Amino acid sequence: MFGEIEGTGFEVLDAEFEGCFVGHARVERLWTGARWSEGPVWFAAGQYFLWSDIPNNRILRFDDTDGSVSTFRQPSNNSNGHTVDRQGRLISCEHLTRRVTRTELNGSITVIADTYDGKRLNSPNDVVVKSDGSIWFTDPSYGILMDYEGERADSEIGACHVYRVDPNGAIQIVADDYVKPNGLAFSPDESVLYIADTGITHDPDGPKHIRRHTVNPDNTLGGGDVFATCTEGLFDGFRVDLDGRIWSSAADGVHCLNTEGKLIGKIHIPELVGNVCFGGAKLNRLFICGTTSLYSVFLNVNGVSPV
Ligand code: MG
Repeated sequence: MFGEIEGTGFEVLDAEFEGCFVGHARVERLWTGARWSEGPVWFAAGQYFLWSDIPNNRILRFDDTDGSVSTFRQPSNNSNGHTVDRQGRLISCEHLTRRVTRTELNGSITVIADTYDGKRLNSPNDVVVKSDGSIWFTDPSYGILMDYEGERADSEIGACHVYRVDPNGAIQIVADDYVKPNGLAFSPDESVLYIADTGITHDPDGPKHIRRHTVNPDNTLGGGDVFATCTEGLFDGFRVDLDGRIWSSAADGVHCLNTEGKLIGKIHIPELVGNVCFGGAKLNRLFICGTTSLYSVFLNVNGVSPV
């Protein structure tokens, strides 16, 4: 049955979506009190979930063992996107300090990248780690355009690129034809890298789509065709499930795209969504960063494990 299922928030736009959710599962609002929620990441070993409240300069922590929320780090240098690497370490994009960092197992902070060719990065936004240890991140200018989510400054690089940092520390541009590169995620087998472009935020004719790149054996990118264009607002952050579907933030909630880029269903959320992340012991729970609130819902799909 297509359409919105009354009282659930689930909207079926294609029969494929009917198998993706549990009919009597409900979206739960876990916490509220943020200004702009982003950067979700799940820590399986600790059974907790971190996310960024960018304007409040803090990283929050939802403890799934008792449902409590506390402050994980403040100040957070206006951190935005997060992920975990294969060793379970936190990788952070920081607007204020215009860098990507790793929090080591002893709590110390290692800078992964803060410059390219001697020029400061703009404001790293979102990040993923490939199984070979390379760290891929986007660098739009949102954190330097105003003081709300960072600190106003000129771009030294003068453009917004996508970068890869190899395990030896070398940094490369992997895509230089984006307006505002934003969320990114690999397909389950890492043969494809999806990257969102949210250029529409500062140009009504700008992009609001996700592009699909093939990942070459030498970790350069090919392809880059538009994979899907957002029908409500824009695609900011997103994650991929084990079957290759994309679960993306959008203005009216979460959009689910199949492997052909078709919008097959939605999870309606009562506020703008900035990012999502799979969590829980079986990675079948989607954590959803609404503007002011953290939501979650159990699904009948499983996310790709980042660890
Ligand atoms: Mg983002």
